[in-house]
Amino acid sequence: MADDATKTGYRLAEVLAFGDEMTSGQRLDTNSQWLSQELGRIGLRTMFHSMAGDDMDAMLSVLRTAIGRADVIITTGGLGPTQDDLTRDAMAMVAGVGLEERPDALAHIEKLFAKRKRPMPERNRLQAMFPVGSQIVPNPHGTAPGIDLHVPRGPDRPAARIVALPGVPAEMVTMWNDTVRPRLLRDGGLERRAMQSSVIKLYGVGESEAEKLLGDMIRRDHVPRVGITVSRATIALRIFAEADTQAACQAMIDVVRKRIDDAFGEMIFGEGDDYELTHAVCDLLGGRGESFCTIELGHAAILAQELSALERPTTYLGGLQLADDDRLARLAAAWQVTTDGVAERWRQSLGADYALVVGRYPVVSGHAAGQMPSADVQLTVLGDRFPKPMTTSVELLGHPDVLRHRIAKSGLSWMRKVVGSNH
Ligand code: ATP
Ligand code: MG
Repeated sequence: MADDATKTGYRLAEVLAFGDEMTSGQRLDTNSQWLSQELGRIGLRTMFHSMAGDDMDAMLSVLRTAIGRADVIITTGGLGPTQDDLTRDAMAMVAGVGLEERPDALAHIEKLFAKRKRPMPERNRLQAMFPVGSQIVPNPHGTAPGIDLHVPRGPDRPAARIVALPGVPAEMVTMWNDTVRPRLLRDGGLERRAMQSSVIKLYGVGESEAEKLLGDMIRRDHVPRVGITVSRATIALRIFAEADTQAACQAMIDVVRKRIDDAFGEMIFGEGDDYELTHAVCDLLGGRGESFCTIELGHAAILAQELSALERPTTYLGGLQLADDDRLARLAAAWQVTTDGVAERWRQSLGADYALVVGRYPVVSGHAAGQMPSADVQLTVLGDRFPKPMTTSVELLGHPDVLRHRIAKSGLSWMRKVVGSNH
């Protein structure tokens, strides 16, 4: 049956999560999120996420639907030894086969209990039962092996492939990496294609404006594919190239990268999923052996929190946060400077090359649903290199969850701009 699959190649995937924990809302289904990203990396497109509680009818229903519309179906959960773990039975049922005991799986489970110096409960024997015709997916860290089963779909279609993995995320991840991914690559006609992706980060435009600037690049049928996502006002452009060779992928990415550079210019601050403006500013200054500190006015210390978390103690020297004007005035009096002089005094005390002042974060609590708080924020960068403070102001509007982060990012963006052009 693997031969059938090779002829057509795998294209569409579906990810299923089984468990009352998920359907009742007690737990977020992070397994499906992780698995679809992995499937995407090997060229399989996940069209559906489905979920069913620990109930045979519900599980059969989502399995049958998935078999009808996906080449590869990955499930997690429900492989344990308890009565509400129904995945193995449901799989046997949809394939129309019985269950048989596999001695090697049983030996593995027995060995695991022996290692833990505990007798094996009779119920765990169930985990050595496999649908006839299925392959075992070894589970080095747990008792529940996974099940890899082809389900025939009649003479005109290749079989659908269901791979059931345990719900425990760490076990699931190991089994995917060690066994499932290599098997899918081998059997699905996926390994002949080369793939590459690149993530470009930018700040300074909204999502719709960014889309406009991307023009035809964002079209669904554009080659290579370009996707856009926004996280707290940072825009990520993901280029995904698929070709016969890595070199061909790289060439496609280079062409699009050049167009993106032309369209967004200085708004681009870096590359990579986890690269943020905080990294960009620290890299810029750190690369020149310079340092900075921050002052945040109002009820947030986002810069201090995020910059200190980067652990670059010679580049980011520290942050000061003051709740309101009263506190600022008191500090100024104590330091015997004007309120405007507080930032400069703070910078000099720390021995920093620059200080970034964000004034001020608005109060965001107590806003009625649907009402967006707005802020008129002054951003200032001070330093010996500047004859006078470099100030700009931005007017921002946004959901309370995002507004303060946008303010902090606007500060970093301003800093990057004035410091970057000040060699
Ligand atoms: P076990 O042998 O541990 O019983 P299992 O295959 O039966 O494995 P479940 O009992 O369904 O798996 O889940 C085990 C644990 O894994 C759950 O308590 C939950 O914390 C976690 N888990 C299950 N499904 C998911 C999911 N989709 N996303 C994130 N975590 C999950
Ligand atoms: Mg269980």
